[in-house]
Amino acid sequence: MRRTRQRIALLALPALVGSMLVATGPAGADPTGPSATVGQSHIDDRDAVRLVHIRLTGADMLDTVTAAGFDLEHGLRRVPTGIEGEAVVTAEQLTALKGMGVEVLADDAGFAWADEADGGFGAAGARAVQPSSHEATVRVVRADWFTTKGQGFLYVEARTTEGQQAEPIVGMQLENDSGKGSPFGFSRTMSRFVDSGQYMFHRNLFKLDTRPDKIRVTSSTGGVATGAVSNWLEDAPPPLTANPSYKSDFVDGYRHPQQLYSRAKEIARQYPDIAEIVYLPNQTNGYQRKAQAQIGGTGQAAVVVTSAAWGHEGGNDITVDFVDRPGANLPLAVEVAGKAVRVLLAKDAAGGPASTATEVAEALRTRSQGLIDRAHPYRANEGTGIVAPTAGPVALTDFLDQKRVGAPAGEVPRGPVTIPVLRIGKHRDGKKPGVLIQAQDHAREWVPATTSLESAERLVHNYRSDRETKKIVENTDVFFILSNNPDGANYSFYNFASQRRNMTNHCPDANADPGRRNSWGVDLNRNYRVGSGHDGYAGASTSCVSDTYQGPAELSEPESKNIIWLVEKYPNIKFMMSVHSNGGQLFWQPGAYIADGRITTPRPPLGDEAFYWQSAARILSQVKAHRETVVTPENVGGSSDVLYSSAGNVREDLYHTYGIYAFGWEVGGSVYNPATGDWQGGSFQPEWVGNPDLVSGHAETMEYANGIMEMFRVAADWGRDKKDPTSQLVPGAGRYTKPVDVRFETSEPATVYYTTDGSRPTLESPRYAATEFREPGQVFHVTETTTFRWFSVDSAGNIERNYDPTKSDRRNNYRTATIKIVNR
Ligand SMILES: [Zn+2]
Repeated sequence: MRRTRQRIALLALPALVGSMLVATGPAGADPTGPSATVGQSHIDDRDAVRLVHIRLTGADMLDTVTAAGFDLEHGLRRVPTGIEGEAVVTAEQLTALKGMGVEVLADDAGFAWADEADGGFGAAGARAVQPSSHEATVRVVRADWFTTKGQGFLYVEARTTEGQQAEPIVGMQLENDSGKGSPFGFSRTMSRFVDSGQYMFHRNLFKLDTRPDKIRVTSSTGGVATGAVSNWLEDAPPPLTANPSYKSDFVDGYRHPQQLYSRAKEIARQYPDIAEIVYLPNQTNGYQRKAQAQIGGTGQAAVVVTSAAWGHEGGNDITVDFVDRPGANLPLAVEVAGKAVRVLLAKDAAGGPASTATEVAEALRTRSQGLIDRAHPYRANEGTGIVAPTAGPVALTDFLDQKRVGAPAGEVPRGPVTIPVLRIGKHRDGKKPGVLIQAQDHAREWVPATTSLESAERLVHNYRSDRETKKIVENTDVFFILSNNPDGANYSFYNFASQRRNMTNHCPDANADPGRRNSWGVDLNRNYRVGSGHDGYAGASTSCVSDTYQGPAELSEPESKNIIWLVEKYPNIKFMMSVHSNGGQLFWQPGAYIADGRITTPRPPLGDEAFYWQSAARILSQVKAHRETVVTPENVGGSSDVLYSSAGNVREDLYHTYGIYAFGWEVGGSVYNPATGDWQGGSFQPEWVGNPDLVSGHAETMEYANGIMEMFRVAADWGRDKKDPTSQLVPGAGRYTKPVDVRFETSEPATVYYTTDGSRPTLESPRYAATEFREPGQVFHVTETTTFRWFSVDSAGNIERNYDPTKSDRRNNYRTATIKIVNR
């Protein structure tokens, strides 16, 4: 008799906390400052920005700085004293940042954790008796050993239950042994990690030459915990590239969106049996802008003029002339001849000029025969100044005609773009697990696009010759969006290298002058619906000139609407990687919180969390296999746990709405440099060849493509997983003469649903949870006879013993164990 398989979705998450509004800074904060002065018709278009290394005291300062419109995304790192990273700023912005308390570090100040012990608080703590677990005040969260480029490192997270206590602050000391059976020593003070007012844990990363077997953590109030040291990325199987006939290294330079899309289409033509193009339905708003001029400086007499037509559709042909006429008592008038607009300025009784900026703007809007549909005073001005005549006609421009030195050759097509998705898989029938690789939501991140293209090339070129690749192509259904922000990416390539957002200008008049054009656009990875800024979550801005602008509404942008369309059209998509740069991080949920109280989006159940960690280790092991780049464990996990809250990101939406395992990747980033003994940070657009051992677009492309291939294998394994998980209570059923501590163990990443009240377990029963986030499962302290009833569900939805929790089933083949406590 054929057995019916029970496979269920594990998405029984609690509802999101209700919407609440959070006060934000005033819109229209001025990030370009007084330097954005605009001349008659010329605007200095040099990217007057530079990259500086900065340190912030913590998440609160990050929020303040972000809300003020600063560009501080990516490459940020938690450090013991706050958050360090890079900012793309002008000289004036730098002054403003300093005014907000931001510390500016020396250039190239690569971050390194202190690796010197700086004393301890005596031996008293170490002598304390270790309390039993339910009374413990100290727990080891993780202790990881890894090596890179000949150097060993130990990373430890530990928690004290007294961590939130303010006075006195509870300190933690860390010791390690030097291998099995050796004594503890090398006492050093751990760093306390506080975020949004909440104590998170203590943590340290430091160099060690010998792998320890155990660590010991002691709190200043006498709590002690020991823990075994685990390997991090040390036990990786050989990468696919180890096969001598494996083909790789297809991408030989950065690619602009036209090149990416044209290669995607070519691949679909060359490999029709395994590849096709799916066109996304919503066209982008386009690499295009209205033509503009700012006439008369920045004072009360200045007028900002914007064409009704796009620049390339006639706007760039318009001229505007403010004309002085002889005479007195003359009214303001407008003459239009072809695309030439002449404003005949009014004269007063004495023959002096008499038109204000407000009056001239109004005349242009209403009397230019439709050529000008937006004209207004400059920024917050009232427009009371008397407008001066121009020296002659002023040409309007969309400022898209400059070509950057060094940009790839080729004309940038203007206007809306249809984004092609390259779909690769032998069986594209919706039955194989789908994997969405989405690159370059953020325009200036060039390596994510080349990493994704390299991955696609490896699939199609190795399909016939490499057994592992054949298995991937036959068992997955992969969707590549090689650039999800083509308009912004073109702007980054050809006009303004630091562009992050798309090119849609949602700004009102006060921020609509051309001096603001590099500050327009929506941050596509803040434009989604779950845990969004519109819902009150932190890490997105309401300011239309902020680099984390969330947009006027959730899913306001075609690029984010498309992602939702794709995962709804292809519900077999169960995995997603949102590929960004740079930082050397791998993220999942939770990725956003409400700052007041630090209320995160719901945490994944323990089974999902364990599956994420297991998958991350597989993926990152393959990254490491290329040139020993280690994404360190402190940079892996829920993104708002280890870095910052990013409201409205795509990962939260896809996981919570569709049950998709949604990863976020910051490729590039810190690499250990044995010559200096420091970690060296990456950049958005590293030199393509660069230093192949350190910062190099080519090396990053190759190593992270290894990781994407492993993600496909994770998905293929998941799709083939028909095996039920098993679980047990440890220690198990039996007679105990004293209270006993018990916990669940599972044979693979799985979530346990249990009861202790005699009822049959269902999907509504309590879920076995972590003691706290990033920790293993909780410990139950059993003082009276208790019967546990439970079942487990793995990440693929297989249920232990094929139990059906949705039906009252006479077999009742869930698991059960009675802990009998007998008094002697
Ligand atoms: Zn990004």
